Amino acid sequence: STYLPKENRYDNMEYRRCGKSGIRLPLLSLGLWHNFGDHDDLENSRQILRTAFDHGITHFDLANNYGPPYGSAEKNFGRIFSEDFKPYRDELIISTKAGWDMWPGPYGNFGSRKYLIASLDQSLKRMGLEYVDIFYHHRPDPDTPLEETMLALDQIVRQGKALYVGISQYNAEDTTKAARILKELNTPFLIHQPRYNMMDRWVEDKLLHTLDEFGLGSIVFSPLEQGILTSKYLDGIPADSRAATEGSYLDKNTITEDLVSKIKKLNDLASKRGQSLAQMAVAWLLKDTRVTSVLVGVSRVSQLEDNLEAIKNIQFNREELQQIDEILGY
Ligand code: NDP
Repeated sequence: STYLPKENRYDNMEYRRCGKSGIRLPLLSLGLWHNFGDHDDLENSRQILRTAFDHGITHFDLANNYGPPYGSAEKNFGRIFSEDFKPYRDELIISTKAGWDMWPGPYGNFGSRKYLIASLDQSLKRMGLEYVDIFYHHRPDPDTPLEETMLALDQIVRQGKALYVGISQYNAEDTTKAARILKELNTPFLIHQPRYNMMDRWVEDKLLHTLDEFGLGSIVFSPLEQGILTSKYLDGIPADSRAATEGSYLDKNTITEDLVSKIKKLNDLASKRGQSLAQMAVAWLLKDTRVTSVLVGVSRVSQLEDNLEAIKNIQFNREELQQIDEILGY
């Protein structure tokens, strides 16, 4: 490989302790949900990963079904990992997940022991790794007993296939139940991965409090509301944006005039703070120290460079916070 990471890569990133664990995570982490599939440009994906690591982003987040097609983000990550990052394995926190639709039939979805264990074995093969640092149950399963799912996570750790476990999208009540079971089993339960951004604040109700109570960290996904909380949709929908992409989870019909007028106001406020809107949106999440890391996605290096600047100012005065609340109707 010709990649030599920047020697000063740890100089400008900050790391927050993940709950009451021994692990510290970078304020920004990189998610591979989009932009790492077989339809994406591998060299672009590679440059995004290199830029991240060069700036102290030590955490890459994957899942079994990221792509498309399913599995391809792990496969492409595995290739880049083997070519560029192998010597740095011990400097990285790599996560993957199972819980959503992955393969046909009754054993390729939700939360059975059968699914979780088989899925992680597949993920490790695709990525060419011996273990992941964090393995998540990706979403709650209404039918499988929580004990079964948690025992599967516990066994995965005992087998040496993951160092820590996490859960994603669980509400506060189910998180409490899961934490109690995992405590009893002595499983290294590290982290919760919920959706959280200025426009989606459900975690503030109870979840963040619950995580604090159990000494768990949090890494929050879709911090930019999939790109809405940036300047990209201010003048229409760019052809290469997620909203313009057929089959993405961001429907172009959500970009209404009313929404754009709110984004404009937020963008003005960000400018007054000397930030881009993306930077302000990331900073707004980091103002709460219960948020261990903000998990961004990027389709190009320039977006990552933009987002990285957020950590230079994560302080808000009361007036700024009130203005944000007013603009968004909170
Ligand atoms: P974001 O809210 O960060 O949205 C990312 C998208 O926003 C990018 O792909 C890009 O879209 C746009 N963008 C990012 N930065 C900028 C910028 N500075 N200026 C303009 N546009 C920008 O997060 P995601 O929804 O992608 O989620 C992040 C990660 O969270 C995922 O990769 C995944 O790891 C995780 N996740 C976990 C889930 C779970 O259930 N646990 C569910 C969803 C995500 P564009 O393509 O338009 O350029």
